Amino acid sequence: MRPPDLTQVTSIKNIKTRFAPSPTGRLHLGHVLSAFLVYAIGKKVSAQLFLRIEDHDQGRSRQSHIDGILEDLTWLGFHFESSHIYLQSDHFDRYESYFQKLHELGYTYYCDCSRKTISRRIGTDKSQLTYDGYCRNRNLGPGEGRGVRIRQESYTFSWKDLFLGPQVQTFDGLTGDPLIRERQGNWTYQFAVAIDDLVESMNLIIRGEDITHATGGQSYIKSLIHGKDCGAVYGHHPLIVGPDHLKLSKRLRSTTISSLREQGIEPEEVFRQIAKEIGIGERKNPIGLSELIEEYWNGRT
Ligand code: GLU
Repeated sequence: MRPPDLTQVTSIKNIKTRFAPSPTGRLHLGHVLSAFLVYAIGKKVSAQLFLRIEDHDQGRSRQSHIDGILEDLTWLGFHFESSHIYLQSDHFDRYESYFQKLHELGYTYYCDCSRKTISRRIGTDKSQLTYDGYCRNRNLGPGEGRGVRIRQESYTFSWKDLFLGPQVQTFDGLTGDPLIRERQGNWTYQFAVAIDDLVESMNLIIRGEDITHATGGQSYIKSLIHGKDCGAVYGHHPLIVGPDHLKLSKRLRSTTISSLREQGIEPEEVFRQIAKEIGIGERKNPIGLSELIEEYWNGRT
């Protein structure tokens, strides 16, 4: 994984970036890689580094995971802007007020379709669903079991990804309206992250490439509020994969950072593994975070 060319970032003023784990479990090596890249790139361009705990899904988030994530990050030596640990659960009023604004402008609508009814109607597997717009013109009001969707008009978003190179995502404006609030009442990842990135002026977004598909939709939501895309730089980094090409997080579910710590493994050992993942060679010796950042930019092998 070659260090990215940061020319497009250096022209931005007041660079802000964030590491945004979801507290639905403990951190594993894949998260450490992501935090490392946010940190290494952020430091290189003198960005402010924020931690955002993405606990928008109240059914799956746990306070014990939030505490554990903070503990793991401190143990590893990551220090974010300490007065600004953002919790999405502190932002529910924020999401509500942006939703109200969008609703008044006619960009959203209530929807009572379950995944099952959608998949029956369009005849595809539940995992392949693209919403067909069934509720777009039904004028439903709020109510029990009703979610909210954004009208996804035709939209093209192109960006020069720090890791993936030029990207283009296009929406035809006919299908695919994303949920911003689920039928059970949770704000969705797609809405919460777009609103937070916009309101918090996050202009450097580094995250795993498994989220690349969501970027055009997030840009669209931001553009509805801001009038145009707000010009963040994105970098979707490769994931850690095992020999069987399963994501490490899935393959080694039990290997959390906390269990490594309990086994007496030191942070430097964790970073030696990260060094291997990003191609800084098979190191004989453990390596600390600052030294790894230096080696990453020096491209040493
Ligand atoms: N919360 C997401 C995750 O843990 C990251 C989202 C993002 O960085 O936009 O995978």
